[in-house]
Amino acid sequence: MKSSGILEKYRSLLNLPAHTKTISLGEGETPLIPIPHIAEELGGGFDLYVKYEGLNPTGSFKDGGMVAAVSEALGAGAKTVICASTGNTAASAAAYATRAGMKAIVLIPDGKVARGKLVASVVYGAKVIQIKGSFDDALKLVVEITKKHPIALVNSINPYRLEGQKTAAFEIVDQLGKAPDLLCIPVGNAGNINAYAMGFAQYDGLKKTGVPEFLGVQASGAAPLVIGKIVEKPDTIATAIRIGNPARGKQALEVVRKHGGKIIAVDDKEILAAQRRLALDGIWVEPASAAGLAGLMKEIKEKKLNVKGKKIVIVCTGNGLKDPDIIEMAKPVLIEPTLEMLEKAVL
Ligand SMILES: *Cc1c(COP(=O)(O)O)cnc(C)c1O
Repeated sequence: MKSSGILEKYRSLLNLPAHTKTISLGEGETPLIPIPHIAEELGGGFDLYVKYEGLNPTGSFKDGGMVAAVSEALGAGAKTVICASTGNTAASAAAYATRAGMKAIVLIPDGKVARGKLVASVVYGAKVIQIKGSFDDALKLVVEITKKHPIALVNSINPYRLEGQKTAAFEIVDQLGKAPDLLCIPVGNAGNINAYAMGFAQYDGLKKTGVPEFLGVQASGAAPLVIGKIVEKPDTIATAIRIGNPARGKQALEVVRKHGGKIIAVDDKEILAAQRRLALDGIWVEPASAAGLAGLMKEIKEKKLNVKGKKIVIVCTGNGLKDPDIIEMAKPVLIEPTLEMLEKAVL
């Protein structure tokens, strides 16, 4: 049976205030799925897995962080939470806030929010406000309003978000028996890569389970950590990582400096190809979530990475159902309902 969520399961390892009032939607315990066929295609000789975080209650890893942030805010007496979001944080904040009996306000950027995420925020009862600006503009605004009014900020600059999200690293170690050699992960606002680094390092301190190297992957149209400066108008089909000024960017660079690895960029074509490839192994993820695999494929193709004998985990951050509109498809064939026509169509 699924546990009552990550806060109960890992409570003693989480740095949360005593006033935290634990809620749960059964988040966490997401599968670590071997993808040996893809490993073979990439030359073989290593073990490759997907940590499929898209199977969380609202369909993304944001739930691991949000359950912690909202539980803390609830215990602190907040009545309302607010976040800026490219979509998944909004859906997650909306679900956990309503679960806790609180209100959620979500700020989304102009245009390009995947439909599944927007609809989720609305159906969970959040107040959705679209601003004429980017995610980065939205984040600035929510920081300002929470300084002035008693509204809890639940973006990943809220430290409790990372406390929750780091449990995904605990889960990977529990699933593999030790840390992998390499973790490939999409990077947007750069909260998650930091959360994983915290989680692996904490477990290593307790149980000597190791810390992986990190391959952080940005989209080439939104790659401030690769080009070394803020991107004013970030652009990519991977909307969840369409961020030009990552709040935890400096810390992310520090993660790869300390533990090894690097942050690279892949273009939209490479992201969509990786998404397709994962889907053909039965794992449909949203475009941003395929960036980790796209980055690994690119590094191997360009012979920049020695993978022989290694254990590699790709973090797939969100579910493909979130963003069906990005998939190009032909209309299904339409036939008369007779055996004859069916035989014609399938044989
Ligand atoms: C939020 C998000 C990311 C980026 O995570 P950061 O912590 O902002 O780096 C990647 N993929 C998906 C699906 C997301 O929702």
